[in-house]
Amino acid sequence: QQNTKVNLHNGIKMPIIGFGVYKVEAGTETVDSVKEAIKAGYRLIDTAAIYQNESGVGQAIRESKVPREELFITSKVWNDDQGYDSTLKAFDESLKRLDLDYLDLYLIHWPVAGKYSDTWRAMEKLYKDGKVRAIGVSNFHVHHLENLLKDAAEIPVINQIELHPRLNQEQVRNFCRNQSIAVEAWAPLGKGKLLDQPELIKIADKHQKTAAQVILRWHLQNDVIVIPKSVNPSRIRENIDLFDFTLSLKEMKQINALNSNERFGTNPDKYESPQ
Ligand code: NAD
Repeated sequence: QQNTKVNLHNGIKMPIIGFGVYKVEAGTETVDSVKEAIKAGYRLIDTAAIYQNESGVGQAIRESKVPREELFITSKVWNDDQGYDSTLKAFDESLKRLDLDYLDLYLIHWPVAGKYSDTWRAMEKLYKDGKVRAIGVSNFHVHHLENLLKDAAEIPVINQIELHPRLNQEQVRNFCRNQSIAVEAWAPLGKGKLLDQPELIKIADKHQKTAAQVILRWHLQNDVIVIPKSVNPSRIRENIDLFDFTLSLKEMKQINALNSNERFGTNPDKYESPQ
């Protein structure tokens, strides 16, 4: 059950739970934690060029000895590389650092105004050329998606957005559902800052699970893909141990009620003005 998958609209399957490596130090910390995650059963790894740890992710993949086709590797094009030619180049560089022949998913990291449509053309080319199995976006508001869809040949398979009980992103999630775009939560644990909420602890105690597991389970029951990050082996294991309990409708509603539209990260509209 750890490897429960979701169907993306282009027909490929993606694990519903993955391992995020933002702020994991390049080198040993990345290699060790990604290997630990793979050992614990994670098959989806979420990195990005800007995290500067793609080489370590690649090394962990090789050393894990898990067949490449069992893994699902995501990376993202950074803002400075947006535009058609530069995206194609950035993709090749990511692939080289990861030492892979193909990626499973490549994302536009942020909607940089005036650039992301050209970037998307390059993503479509990479997809058509078979270099990546699926293409998507990250941090897109509804208006960015509407704009992209106006002249896109391919609909993004996914929108990876900041999403946790304090920021439930209802509007974006509804839009994505209607377009068959899967939603993936970054900072699914609210960067670890929500774990002392009494409501969550109460629910966790009832199920003999942790507050982190309750939040991650809430995401899964909302059909949201999660990529929690930790470099602590026992937490890495804890964050994928989600399949022996179910939240009741009442508990789901209690967690929904924690929404306060509060972001821990940047508002994507920051990239609206040319930089
Ligand atoms: P997160 O919500 O996953 O929180 C991570 C922090 O929570 C950890 O540093 C740790 O302190 C704590 N934590 C994790 N598991 C715990 C547990 N079981 N018990 C107690 N504390 C625990 O936040 P994140 O790392 O920012 O997001 C996850 C991933 O999302 C990133 O690693 C990255 O891959 C991706 N991400 C993407 C974007 C984007 O713009 N697309 C932005 C930020 C992060």
